[in-house]
Amino acid sequence: MDIKSGFIGTVGHTPLIRLNSFSDETGCEILGKAEFLNPGGSVKDRAALFIIEDAEAKGLLKPGGTVVEGTAGNTGIGLAHICNAKGYRCLIVIPETQSQEKMDALRVLGAEVRAVPAVPYRDSNNYVKLSGRLAEETENAVWANQFDNLANRQAHYQTTGPEIWEQTNGKVDAWVAATGTGGTYAGVALYLKAKNPEVKTVLADPMGSGLYSYVKTGEIKSEGNSVTEGIGNSRITANLQDAPIDDAIQIDDPECLRVVYQLLQQDGLFMGGSVGINVGAAVALAKQMGPGHTIVTVLCDSGTRYQSKLFNPEWLAAKGLSPQA
Ligand code: PMP
Repeated sequence: MDIKSGFIGTVGHTPLIRLNSFSDETGCEILGKAEFLNPGGSVKDRAALFIIEDAEAKGLLKPGGTVVEGTAGNTGIGLAHICNAKGYRCLIVIPETQSQEKMDALRVLGAEVRAVPAVPYRDSNNYVKLSGRLAEETENAVWANQFDNLANRQAHYQTTGPEIWEQTNGKVDAWVAATGTGGTYAGVALYLKAKNPEVKTVLADPMGSGLYSYVKTGEIKSEGNSVTEGIGNSRITANLQDAPIDDAIQIDDPECLRVVYQLLQQDGLFMGGSVGINVGAAVALAKQMGPGHTIVTVLCDSGTRYQSKLFNPEWLAAKGLSPQA
């Protein structure tokens, strides 16, 4: 018998998918970890589960308690599912710039949602800081604090990294991924480097994020902006601190969209915007490294979460972007 125990038992163990059109084009094996197949629909289910179970183990989260978090949406969705499965309340603070689809999902799941204006981290009303204050003010509540809570990257060190290692029989030359909290990138990078220090670990970054310049020059500086959600940052989170970063690749929105539409039209994979950055960076890395290499990245979530934006020709036209590969 092969039966999983509920939502929680179904998190992780996702397939590793050969991205055929991009692999054939570059002569490299470009592989995507299919995190959109997690039961809550994104890579963040793993972090949400580890964060909640860590808080339970430390005695911080007690029966009837509330989990509070600031999130671009996917962590909140993962937390809301797990809170339902475990009997907790869930209170989510989300910037109002995030997609309607993610907001709707949070409400359907029964989370209490506070949509707030998107302001920089240095502002005291930033969604992350606000969620921390709400957790303090709420009785019997814990703050998930995904950006600086190391249970986040531990999820990827203990599960995503080992799965990738086993699925490739250790034949992996490079790992490349964009970062929001940095949990996915750092957890996998630390695990793969520990198995084989020769694995190249590369940070992918959208425009408007300060991490590309940080890796290249040591200074956090950003230019432009991006239609992608859930990735890019203007600070080094605790989860990203000490993570091995051999190089960084910046991908702009036109290239991201080209990749997302090629995945849709040539590979049959309907993916979200951060996947365009990740696979775009994997393709750029394949060109740098040359044919014959195995490059692993992550397919964070599905295009269904962005239908009103990235897959809406009118919305794209207003941003000067085109819906084609
Ligand atoms: N892609 C999407 C769509 C996300 O929601 C997130 C998480 N914010 C990421 C990528 C980045 O994951 P991490 O927080 O582990 O860096």
